[in-house]
Amino acid sequence: MERYLLDGEEFAIVDSLYVSCDGNGAGALGHPIEYLTLERGGEAVCKYCDRHFLHHSHPRVSDVRARGEPVDSGGDLGPRSAEALAQDSQVA
Ligand SMILES: [Zn+2]
Repeated sequence: MERYLLDGEEFAIVDSLYVSCDGNGAGALGHPIEYLTLERGGEAVCKYCDRHFLHHSHPRVSDVRARGEPVDSGGDLGPRSAEALAQDSQVA
């Protein structure tokens, strides 16, 4: 699953028509697991964390890939977190 941040919203691009979301990653604290069903070329939005799930044939996928900021999948706060901390200290 690819995830991107675009205009303050998180988008996940998925191949499956059945997805689940637990709110993990992107600084979210998580929520009860939520199961979503997409239509082909469609979109679903998690009612807990407002994450957008786009089927890979959704018309916005190319725009999200082009302009969005990639988010590490799996909620792994390893290298990306260290990088973010370095950026923070540079700003400060
Ligand atoms: Zn969610």
